[in-house]
Amino acid sequence: MEKTAQHFDLLIIGGGMVGASLACALGNQPLRIGVIEAVPLRSSSQPSYDDRSIALAFGARKIFEGMGLWQQIEAIVTPIKKIHVSDRGHFGTTRMDAAREGYPALGYVVENRELGQRFAEQLTSLPNIELICPAQLKNFTINADCAEVVVERDGRVETLTSKLIVGADGGRSVVRQLAGISYSSDDYNQSAVIANVTPSKDHRNVAYERFTDSGPLALLPMSRGRCSLVWTVNRDRVDEVMGWDDKTFLTQLQQRFGMRLGVLQKVGRRNAYPLALVRADEQIRPRLALIGNAAHVLHPIAGQGFNLGIRDVAALAEVIVGAKEEEIGALSVLTRYDQWRKRDQDCIAGLTDGLVRIFSNQITPLVIGRNSGLLAMDMIPPLKRALMRQTMGLAGKLPRLARGIPLS
Ligand SMILES: Cc1cc2nc3c(=O)[nH]c(=O)nc-3n(C[C@H](O)[C@H](O)[C@H](O)COP(=O)(O)OP(=O)(O)OC[C@H]3O[C@@H](n4cnc5c(N)ncnc54)[C@H](O)[C@@H]3O)c2cc1C
Repeated sequence: MEKTAQHFDLLIIGGGMVGASLACALGNQPLRIGVIEAVPLRSSSQPSYDDRSIALAFGARKIFEGMGLWQQIEAIVTPIKKIHVSDRGHFGTTRMDAAREGYPALGYVVENRELGQRFAEQLTSLPNIELICPAQLKNFTINADCAEVVVERDGRVETLTSKLIVGADGGRSVVRQLAGISYSSDDYNQSAVIANVTPSKDHRNVAYERFTDSGPLALLPMSRGRCSLVWTVNRDRVDEVMGWDDKTFLTQLQQRFGMRLGVLQKVGRRNAYPLALVRADEQIRPRLALIGNAAHVLHPIAGQGFNLGIRDVAALAEVIVGAKEEEIGALSVLTRYDQWRKRDQDCIAGLTDGLVRIFSNQITPLVIGRNSGLLAMDMIPPLKRALMRQTMGLAGKLPRLARGIPLS
């Protein structure tokens, strides 16, 4: 392993959830890795590790197991044992039960900030990882023998070189922009309002997804009896919803959610996120790959964004380690990654987008159709199982990490 001050085998731009996961996945490999992150990892303004909680699919657990990181993460998660999907005021309902399907849990809810702490601890303990943070990517050029990356750190401009750069710098990716990679962006004209809510009844590890006339809402089980709320509202109503006092907010939420969790008693700080489907038109170039939100931003309706991103991580890490005599930045190597990921990305983006459109619509035939779909799903186990395997990240050709097996 070459150890010069400025040269890396791999430079990851963005130390958010996906970039940090890739660095952790490649920890202890004979590769010198730099992670360039704009915001200090433990700072309260870190955008990836903010007030949100996310649902990790069972497949993400397998990947963390393969990375040797699950033990640390398990201590901070709340398992989802059952999922209950309903359409307010209509007949359709679907239930999923981990025990019945033979899994310990269908997924796990984790607070982003807590997950960020675990990543920070792991990254600082791995000898082959250098955290270049806080530092901002300013420019890069791709040459025949390396990529040259210009960063600004402590007011100084430095040039680093690397065999491969990976853009994991989120939905507004500067890497994507500097590379001139075009993307499609479909604004849903909706925002997700998130908050922690404390109900009077025990959540019993059930995740609720409820479709309402003012948009889908999810209440996910969390620690200390709390539930993590993701409430999708039309953009023109978001200021109103954010402006409600806590009592009005809880009353409005209760009306839409019903009494399954008893009285919704307390709500924490609210945040709103504008929602769009964004997909990069290319994800690889010689010496360059885009992963996570830099490659695809999804609506949170089915909790798939990070879960898709960590499957990018598992596949890219395997392709990099498997490159052997080939250069890790070679297009032939990166093409293997690109082809591997296409089907899963298309499928999950299509599924998520379809759900948003079907469940944000009040046209009568669609309402009848979606309720019949929910019922059919409940009554036809093979259909339900196929959907579960896909959304749990267990379908298709799985990388080693996604089977819980270490890279080497
Ligand atoms: C309301 C909501 C709920 C969600 N719920 C779920 C869920 O339940 N399950 C799920 O799987 N997904 C969920 N997601 C999606 C998930 O949050 C994202 O998929 C995930 O955060 C993507 O991680 P990322 O690392 O790719 O990007 P980001 O989280 O955006 O991180 C990008 C990082 O790059 C850094 N960066 C940016 N530009 C630069 C630069 N120029 N130089 C250096 N560093 C830079 C940023 O500081 C940041 O740390 C949800 C999303 C939302 C909005």
